Amino acid sequence: MNQYLNQSVTVIKGIGEETAETLAEMKIVTIQDLLEYFPYRYEDYRLRDLAEVDHEEKVTVEGKVHSEPSLAYYGGKKSKLTFRLLVGRYLIKVVFFNQPYLKKKLAMNETITVTGKWDVHRQTITANELQLGFNTKQHDFEPVYSLKGRLTTKGMRKFIRLAFQQFGHFIEETLPVTMLQKYRLQGRREAIRAMHFPQNQEDLKQARRRFVYEEFLLFQLKMQGLRKFEREHSPGINQNFHLKSVERFISSLPFPLTNAQKRVVNEILTDMRSPYRMNRLLQGDVGSGKTVVAGIGLYASVTAGFQGALMAPTEILAEQHAAGLKQLLEPFSVRCELLTSSIKGKRRGEILEELANGNVDILIGTHALIQDEVSFKRLGLVITDEQHRFGVAQRRILREKGENPDVLFMTATPIPRTLAITVFGEMDVSIIDEMPAGRKTIETYWAKPEMLERVLAFVEKELVKGHQAYVICPLIEESDKLDVQNAIDVHAALSQYFQHRYRVGLMHGRLNSEEKDSVMKAFSTNEVQVLVSTTVVEVGVNVPNATIMVVYDAERFGLSQLHQLRGRVGRGSDQSYCILLASPKSEEGQERMRIMTETNDGFVLSEKDLELRGPGDFFGKKQSGIPEFKVADMVHDYRALETARNDAAILIQSQYFWSSPEYGFLRKRLEESGILAGEKLD
Ligand code: ADP
Ligand code: MG
Repeated sequence: MNQYLNQSVTVIKGIGEETAETLAEMKIVTIQDLLEYFPYRYEDYRLRDLAEVDHEEKVTVEGKVHSEPSLAYYGGKKSKLTFRLLVGRYLIKVVFFNQPYLKKKLAMNETITVTGKWDVHRQTITANELQLGFNTKQHDFEPVYSLKGRLTTKGMRKFIRLAFQQFGHFIEETLPVTMLQKYRLQGRREAIRAMHFPQNQEDLKQARRRFVYEEFLLFQLKMQGLRKFEREHSPGINQNFHLKSVERFISSLPFPLTNAQKRVVNEILTDMRSPYRMNRLLQGDVGSGKTVVAGIGLYASVTAGFQGALMAPTEILAEQHAAGLKQLLEPFSVRCELLTSSIKGKRRGEILEELANGNVDILIGTHALIQDEVSFKRLGLVITDEQHRFGVAQRRILREKGENPDVLFMTATPIPRTLAITVFGEMDVSIIDEMPAGRKTIETYWAKPEMLERVLAFVEKELVKGHQAYVICPLIEESDKLDVQNAIDVHAALSQYFQHRYRVGLMHGRLNSEEKDSVMKAFSTNEVQVLVSTTVVEVGVNVPNATIMVVYDAERFGLSQLHQLRGRVGRGSDQSYCILLASPKSEEGQERMRIMTETNDGFVLSEKDLELRGPGDFFGKKQSGIPEFKVADMVHDYRALETARNDAAILIQSQYFWSSPEYGFLRKRLEESGILAGEKLD
């Protein structure tokens, strides 16, 4: 940036060595850092009618002292000063803790202004600030910063005010004038002033709007820049597949493709044939038919003389994919093999050898599949299933394996649009937004745990028809900390309940893979009718005869996860049911249960989930590559995000962007990010 703003904060009067050190801990080193250290909230000094103030909200009121202030000491040095205040037509109580010296400043019938927290029930303000006379705050809002060490709010306000007075005129514009005009955005200097010292709510809103756009635009320029760079610099392969064979394969399927499937197949095949390396995300709700689409892509790759790989997050899922793909592809003389960590010894050696010499066409497995010992002869297409929990960096690692294969990521967790264009912003996205015809929606009910007996009777009605049931529990074993149902206990109780009538199996993540395998097999062959399980069955498992699912402690799951779980039923032609056993205490929890009973649409649920839980929690605990913004909030500011993305996509492609001085600053930031040199995005 410029030399003036690059000076150390110590040029500000009042900032000495010690303060500078504390500021450095807060990553504030230069004047610019200081100016861009925005408040995390504002003290609201607007005078308001108490009738409109919520319980526990902060408020400033003017009034007349209406009783002699009384001061009481307690617990040694602690004190409480109490008096009545007439505010318009309300007579309220005001309390100041531990400021005994205020007593002598207060006199009956004098006008004062107090700021504090409003207790609706007690009609009391617990005050922390007193002004004698009318409210003299010049601004409605005063900034509050998150601080360290001995810094105080007052001090920080002063430093920033000084910095702005002395150096404000050096602040340079970063956005091009055309954009400022187009969106009527505040200039950067003006916006920085307003972030710290807003004159009113509108002023603050405009400042925020400007920075939201700036942050999103820069971020999207990086994403689009990365995408462009990878397209142009990572040599892809031309997969010249045999179109006639692919068409024959598609018409051999037992059903016609849905329009959505046709569309995404086209998108994928176009990428595969292009000289670019495909980097595509395929989204489709549970049961929308992604597997077939994957199969078509893999088959196309084989007809082009390449090998394909399909990577799944769990062994169970890998096995299911292997079985499904073998059934689809082997009639077309495509050799599919499964590779997981439980395939060992001679068999493993054989597969690896056959793979290396090109006799195996398609390899299906867990992430063991991209380890060093696995080498393909001519890998053309890598498909990963349910890898949405990985961030940008991990996605790149995968792409760097092999000889620049095309890569397709599949996910059944519908990703809200805002996250799709941030977390997956550097990828192309295909969406299957249509279900195969004739699917029945799963009827979902929310029941209180007290209704368990009735719920079990309902389950039994399904079992009597020859159907099967899933029972899902949040934990494996009993835990002292959490009062939640656990798979082992529930398994014991249900075995007792259904004894001599139905067999009850148990499935959880601590079983070894052989045990898991035999449980799953028993369930899929209907030797076991009721499967008690933790969320390991969450992804992909397919037993069409299962028509009912009961979820214990359902409030402990997020919407997306519940939707995933629910997708295990409703996979056949019979009506299916999902019963959520829950007594959520929070309103948010109740809201989640209600939404589940109201919609089967994964995209609707995912948007709702994001709204309720926020972006940080959306993908669960694992690293997810969600970017952090200073001012912007991708959930609430999603419109700005979309606008910025569209602008960035156009800019990156335009000659004007790369040459016009108007875009100099944005270009520079893009260069500094290292993306244009192919460095990794963190
Ligand atoms: P996903 O992987 O998206 O959850 P699947 O690929 O497992 O879904 O498909 C779910 C079921 O729907 C499978 O039994 C599959 O054979 C079937 N299916 C897929 N596409 C169609 C279609 N176009 N018409 C009818 N059934 C389909
Ligand atoms: Mg290609």
